[in-house]
Amino acid sequence: MGKVGSKEGQYYGVMVWRAGRDRLATRVNLDSRNIDLHSILCPVCDTEIESMEHLMVYCSWSNVIWNKVFQWWGFCLPQNMGGNAFLNIIDFVRNLSPRIKASFKPLQLRCFEAVLFTSAWIMWRSRNLKVFTDKSQSSVEVFKEIQQLSYNWISCRCKILSVNWDVWIDNPLEACRLY
Ligand SMILES: [Zn+2]
Repeated sequence: MGKVGSKEGQYYGVMVWRAGRDRLATRVNLDSRNIDLHSILCPVCDTEIESMEHLMVYCSWSNVIWNKVFQWWGFCLPQNMGGNAFLNIIDFVRNLSPRIKASFKPLQLRCFEAVLFTSAWIMWRSRNLKVFTDKSQSSVEVFKEIQQLSYNWISCRCKILSVNWDVWIDNPLEACRLY
């Protein structure tokens, strides 16, 4: 997998911003604008209506991915997030209490935030892959791609940090510690 260029980085920033406001072209959104679609079901699980909250949070596919991402970093995925669940995940770092924030290095929190954004971007890309090419990616495949792409991204963005791949996989907080 190649390095992530700044263009792609900018693109997923926009994608996360739009998704937070539920403006992405999910099927329920297109349907409400009278665009005739074959199905308004989630393209991944094919059982629930595809809203942004379902696709990005409550679908068993995305839920497993988020759980893996949070466990990988030693955090717990927030529960009972209500109607703004996707934004709550994306803003997880920003919403941490000052006491919890103080127990981490700022760089560790910035890196985890980058991982959350990368996750959202890769999940959306994977959803489009399924819609446009009918290629399915399992939660595990998407999770591995998140680890790889966020590693590339952080390695090229953080010149001061030399991130070791094995440590990144085993203990990302340790990998992002600056001595
Ligand atoms: Zn689904």
